[in-house]
Parts: sequence; structure tokens; C-alpha cells
Amino acid sequence: MNVRLADKTFEPFIGAEKIQQAVSSIADTISRDFKDKTPVFLPILDGAFVFAADLAKKLTITPKFSFIKVKSYHNTASSGLVNQVMGLDIDISGQDVIIIEDIIDTGLTVSYLLKELRKHKPASIRIATLLNKPGALVEKISIDYKGLEIPNRFIVGYGMDYNGLGRNLDSIYVLKG
Ligand code: 5GP
Repeated sequence: MNVRLADKTFEPFIGAEKIQQAVSSIADTISRDFKDKTPVFLPILDGAFVFAADLAKKLTITPKFSFIKVKSYHNTASSGLVNQVMGLDIDISGQDVIIIEDIIDTGLTVSYLLKELRKHKPASIRIATLLNKPGALVEKISIDYKGLEIPNRFIVGYGMDYNGLGRNLDSIYVLKG
């Protein structure tokens, strides 16, 4: 069934069962790769909160979690778009870090994060994303754990929003039209 969010209509795209299969597969691989280790998971708010929660419940390892946010704003002095990492309240030096993203689109957010996080001298950084849009990638990044590849279309649900709405949907919908 279609859903209406604010002024737009979205149609069913990826069902809840298929999403859970993708999450389980990522959880299994990470659990295997980090057996007997304690990596630090860094889910990127807001969008990754649902994926991070489901992933957490399927892991057989015991990671630490710290939720971070990448804030973009216009700096009037430089007049350019400036990014800032917020909420990194855990010491990641010497730690194995896994960035948890809902979706990688252009790759700009993750490549900025990689640059910033490396300043804290972690032992390693890996990237896990539920979805990626290979057609939209402008920054070349290697994704260590990925669930499903999707075409370059606008989606909502499972943590992702349109104008703040739709994050609580348990499956993914695509903009109609
Ligand atoms: P990137 O920096 O890779 O271009 O963007 C990543 C972020 O853009 C994601 O974490 C997500 O918040 C947002 N994003 C990218 N594609 C979509 C989409 O199709 N729908 C929604 N709701 N957000 C998206």
C-alpha cells in the first residue's frame, strides 16, 4: 500500500523481510570478522538509528556503541559548506571502529567522517551500510559491509525520512512518479 508523507506519495520498494535478511547477513559477517574483539560501532544519526538497533540485536559479539551526527552548516566567514562531527564522546584511539550508515548516496558524508575519525588514530575503520546507490557515488570509498544496492531514487522508511516523516516505517518506500 502507498504511503502519503506531507505532500508526496511513496510506493512499496523493499519489504521488511528482505531488509531483515540483509541486516542478518551483515551482522553474521561482522560477528565473524570481529570474533573475540570489541569494536566500536558509530551509527550516524539520525537515519541509521533503526538499522543500528536491529543490527545490534543480531550480533554475536559485544561491541561498544557511540552515536554520532554529521552537522552541515554554512560558515559565513568562509561562505562554504562546513561539516562537523558531533557526539563523539568515546576515545577511539587504538580501537577498531565500524561506521554504521543507513544509506551511502554520494559518499561525501562517509569520506568526510573517515578523514575526521583518522585524526583520532583508531586501529582500523570499516564501513557498514544497509543500502548504497552506486549510480550516485562521487567519492571513491570502499564499503566493507553492504546490504542492498538500489538505483538512484529517493526512498523513505526504516530510519530514513522525507521532511522528518517516515522514519518509523518498518519497510522501505520509493518516491512515486
Ligand atoms: P551522502 O553523503 O552519501 O550523499 O549521503 C548520505 C546521507 O544522505 C544518508 O545518511 C541519508 O541521510 C541521506 N540520503 C541519501 N539518499 C537518501 C534517500 O534516498 N532518502 C533519504 N531519506 N535520505 C537519503
